[in-house]
Amino acid sequence: MNELKADYVVVGAGTAGCVLSARLTENPHASVLLVEAGARDRHPYIHVPAGFLRLLEHPSITWGSRTRPHADTDHRELVFPRGRGLGGSSSINGLLYVRPFPHDIDDWAAAGATGWDYASSQPYFARSETWPHGEHPRRGKRGPIHVTRVSNPPPVCDKVVDAAREVGYEFLDDPNADTRGPAVFYYQQTRRGRFRSSAARGYLQPALGRDNLRVLTGTDVVRVLLEGGRAVGVEVIRPDGQTVRVRAEKEVILSAGVAGSPAILERSGIGDPDVLAAAGVATQVPLRGVGRNLQDHYVARVCFKLKDIATANERASGLALLKEIARYVTHGDGLLTYSAALVGLYGQTQYAQRPDVQFVVAPGSFRSGRIGELEKEPGISVGCWQMRPESRGEIHITSRDARAQPVIDPRYLSADLDRRTLVEALRMARGLFEQPGLRALVVQETVPGPAARDDAGLLAYARANGGTVYHGVGTCRMGQDGAAVGGPGLRVRGVAGLRVVDAAVMPNVTSTNTNATVLMLAERAAELIERGHAGAGEARAAGAALAA
Ligand SMILES: Cc1cc2nc3c(=O)[nH]c(=O)nc-3n(C[C@H](O)[C@H](O)[C@H](O)COP(=O)(O)OP(=O)(O)OC[C@H]3O[C@@H](n4cnc5c(N)ncnc54)[C@H](O)[C@@H]3O)c2cc1C
Repeated sequence: MNELKADYVVVGAGTAGCVLSARLTENPHASVLLVEAGARDRHPYIHVPAGFLRLLEHPSITWGSRTRPHADTDHRELVFPRGRGLGGSSSINGLLYVRPFPHDIDDWAAAGATGWDYASSQPYFARSETWPHGEHPRRGKRGPIHVTRVSNPPPVCDKVVDAAREVGYEFLDDPNADTRGPAVFYYQQTRRGRFRSSAARGYLQPALGRDNLRVLTGTDVVRVLLEGGRAVGVEVIRPDGQTVRVRAEKEVILSAGVAGSPAILERSGIGDPDVLAAAGVATQVPLRGVGRNLQDHYVARVCFKLKDIATANERASGLALLKEIARYVTHGDGLLTYSAALVGLYGQTQYAQRPDVQFVVAPGSFRSGRIGELEKEPGISVGCWQMRPESRGEIHITSRDARAQPVIDPRYLSADLDRRTLVEALRMARGLFEQPGLRALVVQETVPGPAARDDAGLLAYARANGGTVYHGVGTCRMGQDGAAVGGPGLRVRGVAGLRVVDAAVMPNVTSTNTNATVLMLAERAAELIERGHAGAGEARAAGAALAA
């Protein structure tokens, strides 16, 4: 077998892996080898914002994952998209830029991730972004990810904002404000001009010319190589099928995402011995928390057919679409710059003391409420999802084969609170469209429709038609208890020279969309890693709050 080596081997070029690779190679004395299973990010739908709708089940740009069927979601196999290729999920996501609520991160610290409080995380959010809309004390000026306001939203969006204000929601100019009660707002997007601002474009591309960064695409990481309790590299399969060892002089960093990172740990013999034995892997380091604590947001949509107002539906096909393409090419705006939603609401049900549901409003509608082809006539959809679900699931391997998919079992709606909250959220979304300004535009509610009137009907609809909001986290949770996979320094317990840095380490899912938080996490981790390998004095300074 051939051998490649670098100081740091980073596994996965997704949101976190791109941040780490770019930041660690700012030091000319450190070298990084970034290993990514997917390809370069050349597909045009990656870069045109609205293209994300066409990528959710793309055969090569995603992993094509499905969830394990479960009674609580009507025994369906749900699509569980994960990006594959440079940029990872940041190359296929819905572009919504939403920072966590302060208490989300403070809750991590309280759960054992000492030092990961909101106040000390703030500078890392700003470091990752460029905010072009003027001076702002909490927003970044020179960061790699460009965050912009939605441009030219269609008039139906203002109607939703007005209706929300009528029922008592405050209008928030900035959905990322520190204080956020029940509120309506326009989303902000990870977009630079007309193009998506992915982690690959923002962080990795400017670093590609550096001599100390090497990127291997089309290369699957099989497992971490362990010698005497230390991670010394990884075993990979190159595009030609050759198995190669990649040596890490300093550290192996897993940034393979919520499913990839636990799967690699398990294939390396790090995990629950029972799970490993069932998959035919010998246990090297027993760690029962690997793959557990999976959390995700689960969405169900209310859709309406509208009249007397333009929506995205009519502009998404035929001559109207050609006009939108021309507008995009000449002016860089219009339909093709839309993100997953344009207007959002933080709502609060009777079950919480602070906002606990997010409503994502898109000026377009889908048959059966599931993302797919837009309907032809004017329509609108409101996705409803609980921010802090109690349901917990798992992701585990069932085979040693690196190319076999792990089993993803989120167990959505398995907690009673989650079911009650979602039912109330669906009612609240309906309530919004009963306000005079919107009611005058509604022809009919298409889904769930009049048959789903009572709680049982709404729950049955949510079970049969809901799906992931794509915010899977938590499968390599940091903490200090026996089931935590890593400590606050993100080092895997019981193995030297090995960290996990990605969405998998979050102890709890944030109340919001997760990409901004992963950017923060990786920015902070890069500093921690870099300073940990600097002089002892500096290491002490950086590590004071986040001991490994
Ligand atoms: C469809 C979709 C829409 C979303 N919409 C939004 C949104 O609008 N706003 C928001 O804030 N968040 C959104 N998210 C969530 C957000 O994008 C993710 O939380 C974030 O990108 C996760 O980053 P990560 O680094 O943990 O993992 P990823 O970005 O998923 O990166 C993991 C990388 O590791 C690679 N990998 C995995 N296994 C291996 C292996 N064995 N060998 C080599 N490479 C491997 C993968 O190919 C991938 O490139 C969305 C996610 C998806 C999937």
